[in-house]
Amino acid sequence: MSRDPRYDILFEPVQIGPVTARNRFYQVPHCNGMGHQMPEAHAAMREIKAQGGWAVVSTEECEIHPSGDVTPYVEARLWDDGDIPALALMCEKVKAHGALSAVELTHNGYTSSNLYSREIPISPSHTPLKYGYPMQARAMTRRDIQDYRQWHKAAALRAKRAGFDIIYVYAAHDLSLAMHFLQRRRNQRSDEYGGTLENRIRLLREVLQDTKEAVGDTCAVALRFATEEFLGEGGVQNAEAREIVHHLADLPDIWDVNVASWYNDSVTSRFGAEGFQQPFTSWVKQITSKPVVGVGRFTSPDTMARLVREGALDMIGAARPSIADPFLPRKIETGAINDIRECIGCNICVSGDMTITPIRCTQNPTMGEEWRKGWHPERIPAKKSEKRILVVGAGPAGLEATRALGQRGYEVMLAEASDQLGGRVLKESALPGLSEWRRVRDWRVGQIEPMPNVSVFRGNALGAQDVLDIGADAVVLATGSHWVRTGIGRSSSEAFAGHESPAVFTPDDLMAGRYPEAGPVVLYDDDNFYLASVLAEALVARGLEVHFVTPDDVIAGWTSNTLEYRPIQKRLRQLDIHLHTGKSLQSFDGDNVALACVWSDESLRIAAAAIVTVTMRLPADGLYQALLARESEWQAAGITHIRCIGDALAPGLIAHAVYAGHRFAREFEAGTGDNGDSPEVPFRRVRIRL
Ligand code: ADP
Ligand code: SF4
Repeated sequence: MSRDPRYDILFEPVQIGPVTARNRFYQVPHCNGMGHQMPEAHAAMREIKAQGGWAVVSTEECEIHPSGDVTPYVEARLWDDGDIPALALMCEKVKAHGALSAVELTHNGYTSSNLYSREIPISPSHTPLKYGYPMQARAMTRRDIQDYRQWHKAAALRAKRAGFDIIYVYAAHDLSLAMHFLQRRRNQRSDEYGGTLENRIRLLREVLQDTKEAVGDTCAVALRFATEEFLGEGGVQNAEAREIVHHLADLPDIWDVNVASWYNDSVTSRFGAEGFQQPFTSWVKQITSKPVVGVGRFTSPDTMARLVREGALDMIGAARPSIADPFLPRKIETGAINDIRECIGCNICVSGDMTITPIRCTQNPTMGEEWRKGWHPERIPAKKSEKRILVVGAGPAGLEATRALGQRGYEVMLAEASDQLGGRVLKESALPGLSEWRRVRDWRVGQIEPMPNVSVFRGNALGAQDVLDIGADAVVLATGSHWVRTGIGRSSSEAFAGHESPAVFTPDDLMAGRYPEAGPVVLYDDDNFYLASVLAEALVARGLEVHFVTPDDVIAGWTSNTLEYRPIQKRLRQLDIHLHTGKSLQSFDGDNVALACVWSDESLRIAAAAIVTVTMRLPADGLYQALLARESEWQAAGITHIRCIGDALAPGLIAHAVYAGHRFAREFEAGTGDNGDSPEVPFRRVRIRL
């Protein structure tokens, strides 16, 4: 396959100060939960991006000083020379594949809590800390400002020694001192660093100049800049941002522009479409003569080429699209457009950073496993035998197992009970705002279809005898799960009175099109993630009055890990949904729901014609249990092993199901006690040397 000439423009080199990017694909900084604590894993992940064709591969935030210590979050670190080797490793690996490496130097001011260093946080003005402890940051003196400039300069010099080609000054995401000085709400200073816009820009200008002076002979200096905070006058607004860009126009060698905070920047597909940032950033190029990189969850080469042609961007910035498919540029370059594994905008990748664990991705099960398990997103070891494998169930787990086993060259039979492939992904992606999630299914089906060694049997609900009769050597059961109707879940181990009523619905009912005919509806959420809020939207769209009830103290609490917490709170209020927190479900008599306060003896009755319970799922593992009961017959049937994976083993995220499918395929006959049977720890670990 060869490149479509329409995309030639994306492969033009771009001059960035003293360095040249080989094409227009720019992996902007992104967190990964590995950072300075897992340098080999971090370097291996970045290396794959360089291999995949990105011209620039960046670190995540890189702390420059112990007074800007973002612990417990694990990012990059350049506090002193001892931190250089870890990042030099990344630079070396990225360079080996012809890419430039970039480092996002930052001091996070009052948004770093210094939990490890125990330094007093600093800020333009006195202020409570944003995260961490109930303590305050102190207002910086002029001396502190000088010190900060020196720390930044010293870190830039270390970055240069590590081998970085592009060195950032960071004024974005409401996360850095340079940005806090720009913000009226954070900067109440009366000296030459506060007050007028020119004064508030002073520090950013100085740090840019310092960095250019220190490393600008061989390194490009990038400015990451948020053009809009959506906070009105208190925040950086587009109008003021224009003035700032005018003031600094050609000082940086490249502008990396986005919107702030992180939850506005990395918006999920439920709340923002591809390219949603363009209205806020596309004007920057008209003001500066320097190249501009911008983001917007770009996965379509047509959109990318159009934006460059229209003069909106010089470089296509990507964090999530590069996580979901590190080989995105190569695939465009080689004309393999249909092979692009498009990001679905679910932000499970973000949850890695938030939970301080290595990054993971719904679409790309190899993300974060490049070093730990030696997994490559495009390559997989060839089959070890002529064994035939039966996969039962074509949800994300079964589809990924089939795809990856097929890629290894095994003969695979995929049996699916329904007429359509996709399992829960197909159902959930039909709900309001989740249409991009269908990509999990579409990409895998698209990959499987041309494989001559894979046969797909739709409309085939297999029983235990069918499995034993089919002539497979190994069997993978990926038969999914179903939601319970009883209200049993995280907060309750007992069914609520009245759960047998036909007016009690589950998410499975709604996704199958069985909705309550009349309201009000009590939507009882003990799952605390996205689904209940999505179902609330679906119910409102049918004209039903909704009471959202949760025993938790907050609505959809876990969505703070995927940056959706805020938009969900706003959306539910916009839809006039009644919200009840800290209430557990007691009973339903067909007309009323009785709730109990989780903190007191208070109770509450809500008139309701129906209930939807979103509490927990149980594995649909009847087939697995039936086969386990007939284990003595496996050998005669020629079956060496049967594995249950994905939701059928333990219901989880779509990301877990994809990972489980991939893992089975990788470990099948791999000699590592396949499928987790080995007594060894199944991945490499970072050892602390004593
Ligand atoms: P996961 O998330 O683990 O992949 P899903 O619930 O998305 O699970 O998908 C499970 C799939 O398995 C569904 O499409 C379902 O129709 C299918 N399935 C369940 N039981 C059988 C069976 N006995 N034979 C064939 N397909 C089955
Ligand atoms: Fe995209 Fe979701 Fe993967 Fe993040 S986890 S890169 S949002 S598909």
